[in-house]
Amino acid sequence: MNNFRRKFLKLFSFSYLSFIILPFNILNAATKKIINPNLTEEQKNIMFNESTERPFSSALNYEKRKGFFHCANCGAKLFSSSAKFDSGTGWPSFTESLPGAFKTKIDTSFGMKRIEYHCAKCGAHHGHVFDDGPSSTQKRFCNNGLCLIFKPEINE
Ligand SMILES: [Zn+2]
Repeated sequence: MNNFRRKFLKLFSFSYLSFIILPFNILNAATKKIINPNLTEEQKNIMFNESTERPFSSALNYEKRKGFFHCANCGAKLFSSSAKFDSGTGWPSFTESLPGAFKTKIDTSFGMKRIEYHCAKCGAHHGHVFDDGPSSTQKRFCNNGLCLIFKPEINE
């Protein structure tokens, strides 16, 4: 009888927990959405599984033209080339994002406390923002190059 009671309690607490957790999962899933069907597995892994690309692997590290950096998933405009700088870290870096481009959250993985940011429009993970930037904003947006698409300004 005791055993039965224990099993019942276990089952009950489990379903009770899922009842509480489930709506959060649904909410979370609703804000993260794959829009671009041509995303590669690596892009999906970074944008929806919080993975990170190898440093110095992105050609965007060397991009110096004028233009805008867009979300590779939903196309939202995220950074202006005027905010880009060479941080030497091996990831495209920016002093500021365009207003309202991202939502942030605290990431405690790997025993560190970092501020992670996601595209405000599609929820895709892009990178982390640090307080050691070179300009007056003191921000350093450290962005995975694979999450970005650069569109150069067209000179007339
Ligand atoms: Zn997006």
